[in-house]
Amino acid sequence: MTGYNFAAMKGRPIKTAVIGVGHLGGFHVEQLRQLPEANLMGVFDSDPERLATVSREQQVRAFATLEEALDVAEAVSVVVPTAGHFQVASQALEAGCHVFIEKPIARTLDEADRLLRLAEKCQRLIQVGHIERLNPALAVLDKYRLRPRFIEGHRLTSFSERGTDVPVILDLMIHDIDVVLHLIGSPVSEVRANGVQVITDSIDIATARLEFENGAVANLTASRISQRPMRKLRIFQGSMYIGIDFLQQLTEVYQLVDSDRQPPEAILAIPFEYRGRRRLITYEKPATEKYNALLMELRNFIRSVAGLEQPAVDGYAARAALDVAMQVQAAIDRGGPLAEGEAPS
Ligand code: NAD
Repeated sequence: MTGYNFAAMKGRPIKTAVIGVGHLGGFHVEQLRQLPEANLMGVFDSDPERLATVSREQQVRAFATLEEALDVAEAVSVVVPTAGHFQVASQALEAGCHVFIEKPIARTLDEADRLLRLAEKCQRLIQVGHIERLNPALAVLDKYRLRPRFIEGHRLTSFSERGTDVPVILDLMIHDIDVVLHLIGSPVSEVRANGVQVITDSIDIATARLEFENGAVANLTASRISQRPMRKLRIFQGSMYIGIDFLQQLTEVYQLVDSDRQPPEAILAIPFEYRGRRRLITYEKPATEKYNALLMELRNFIRSVAGLEQPAVDGYAARAALDVAMQVQAAIDRGGPLAEGEAPS
């Protein structure tokens, strides 16, 4: 977190607060404390025990009520369970705060639309925590000419009760939905999906096929009942294949190029002949500067509030991801979600 001086850039620290300091909210507190752009004024949680613990451990003020926090702060992180996003974020906007809402923006499109309208009316910013957009493994692709035709994504975690207030589509798949919407840059034209309810009372594992108006296709699988974690995206386009490992923050790029066009960054170039045409298959591992994506995300939020940057994922982009996630859920519901024991072998 060095290399620039916020105050010297005529910025003034933005007064912030974290609302909901459970598992992820605790990390928001840790990261906001490190940001010179942010003046963390305190935290609020509806669970008094959790509030006291975080306040004591992180040496931050515990606000007695949400109203007290919103009175003091200019910008808040909303890190309560998804079901509470709308209520807390709308109260914060009405109190004049800019809001960073953890993903998904809300539980329904109606709630998301109401938040967006409120933000416009109150002239306040909504940014949403689609954190993979800040993952260095994705950010490093900026220098490539991307025109994905086919993307395959896998996002698997082992079971934890946290996040099970919503189906796996809203908890995990929505990360990849947001990323593929961003990479493909074309509206979704058709959604097919299937899902299985294995442990909880909503879908625990789902697979979706998204077709885009430009002809691209994305196949996404998300599971919260897997033995081993995985967060991978494979991107295919003419003469190029890219593999992204979000967990390892690792990106690999394979290209088929003319023999005199070897990219300078290639660490391997293997001659390849197809129908008499000789070319090279090159392999690059673009150096990803490892960093904490949450810190970058919150820095981007605070700097956006200060008018110095644009939010990586604004409320409208988050609403678009929620819209597709809802279509995935609807496609599963139309097919009749399979219960345990009914899954095709
Ligand atoms: P959690 O259950 O660990 O924590 C939520 C906290 O919010 C609890 O301490 C609870 O007491 C508090 N709370 C509930 N309602 C409240 C209210 N109305 N006002 C104040 N406090 C309230 O949940 P978590 O795992 O930290 O998840 C929180 C949010 O973060 C969810 O929306 C989840 O989708 C999101 N999340 C995002 C990522 C990511 O990768 N970006 C990862 C995990 C969770």
